[in-house]
Amino acid sequence: GNPFISLSQVLRDPESLLLDTAKAHGAHKLTKDFKNYYGIKSANHGYTVVIKDNIVTPELPTTCASNTLKGFLPPQTSTVADLLRRGGQIMLAKTNMDEFGMGSHSINSAYGEVHNGTVDGPQGGTALSVGGSSGGSALAVAANLANVGIGTDTGGSIRLPAAYMSLVGFKPSYGMISRKGVVPYANSLDTVGLVAKSVQDVWLTYDILKKPDDNDPTCLSSSSRSRVHYATYARDAALQGNKILPVILNGPRFGPAAPTETPGRYHPRRHPLPTSKGVPKRIGVPLEYNIQEMHPLVRWSWMATLSHLEKAGCEIVPISLPSTKHALSSYYILAPAEASSNLAKYDGVRYGNSRHDHVDDDAANGTTLYSRFRGQNFGPEVQRRILLGTFSLSAGAMDNYFIQAQKIRRMVQQDFDSVFRMPNPLRDNTKVNKQGVDFIVVPTAPTPPPRLKYVRNATPLESYINDVFTVPASLAGLPAISVPGPRHPDYPWRPEVAVGMQLIGQYGDDFNVLKMANDEL
Ligand code: GLN
Repeated sequence: GNPFISLSQVLRDPESLLLDTAKAHGAHKLTKDFKNYYGIKSANHGYTVVIKDNIVTPELPTTCASNTLKGFLPPQTSTVADLLRRGGQIMLAKTNMDEFGMGSHSINSAYGEVHNGTVDGPQGGTALSVGGSSGGSALAVAANLANVGIGTDTGGSIRLPAAYMSLVGFKPSYGMISRKGVVPYANSLDTVGLVAKSVQDVWLTYDILKKPDDNDPTCLSSSSRSRVHYATYARDAALQGNKILPVILNGPRFGPAAPTETPGRYHPRRHPLPTSKGVPKRIGVPLEYNIQEMHPLVRWSWMATLSHLEKAGCEIVPISLPSTKHALSSYYILAPAEASSNLAKYDGVRYGNSRHDHVDDDAANGTTLYSRFRGQNFGPEVQRRILLGTFSLSAGAMDNYFIQAQKIRRMVQQDFDSVFRMPNPLRDNTKVNKQGVDFIVVPTAPTPPPRLKYVRNATPLESYINDVFTVPASLAGLPAISVPGPRHPDYPWRPEVAVGMQLIGQYGDDFNVLKMANDEL
């Protein structure tokens, strides 16, 4: 059957979800341990998770919502699933998504579209887009089926669903959470992300997942993590007027001991998420984000957020990130290029259940076998991305597309580095930029959630525009969180007017991004 959550089924019998997976893991014992460990008193808090179907779990097939992988039960599990299980979190279900993560509305799926509201009706229904591509995980959280949704964010796939459904969606810095067992879409951009109803819930689960992993070479090692702590330390010391800065960022041997992000094991009762109150904060407002296409309600919410922050004692500073206007085009060259290479292995021979269906007379001719399988089983958006990516990597087009896009990506990174107070721990420059900002606050999406009936008929380009505010942080690998924005008092609250505000921090400043979002937004 369909491994994804069927909302009506779940609402009829919420217990059914817990049955196999959770009981097999000794749900009752784990629940108790987890609650004791985190000092959680209330029932049903912080320990049920749903997992996007591009992350491998031991019990259920992993299909990336693609016909090419129908019924595929991978031989190994993901580090994420492993850590969640060991952390006492109970995995309830795999969730629907855009095929291989390609999309912004969770409608490009072999299992049918995810939708928020009624699809049928006289005017074609009132269902709204849940955002994408982690829309299934986010909807499960919005519908109170799980406390935390695990997804992936390559160019906004956690933040956009969070914005569209008034949830909290967090994309950590690139490399903080292991990608072992996460099916790659665009390796240099892919991050595991989390969606929940509060920053605390996100933090509880992120704390379990942010671990080094030898099985993923792009997952930050312990020594790189202490280098990152050094950079946050340098920034904090500069803020406090401390002249003795740990300018050598090579490791704990040459300077004062790096402060640990969380002293010992985190325990919210004894160590509540430390407050960021009282620390001077400078908030950057990039002028290039104030685009003409921005919906008035989004602009209003952005301004309301900034004036609220100002009242809370933050300094609001206009900044310029000039490469922003090219970031989206760069992303839509780079992501399909990496994807076209990643997806080459789905040839109908190696993965999935349906692979034997196509072995017939043509089998002697491998090319026909592959192309028929791929033509029949990849959805139209995935095929479009493969064509785009293959083209931009081809000898004749490489210089004009792929290389240019890489250059823009580097400029986007340099733009961010030039405005942040904290030095980027991945670069050699260790100087604290005294005039710099600590965070950037911008909307998550240019509009509130669109109606599904419009989204279905949108051109690919119109769909790509939804990602205009999320891809810059992805290209630079920065931590970014989307939280529900203030609501205009003249508009009674309806799901149609949901707006998300995004807080972006310097690379490795994840903990402060979470603290700031928790305290001030
Ligand atoms: N909408 C973007 C895309 O289609 C982002 C997807 C993602 O982050 N996985 O590529």
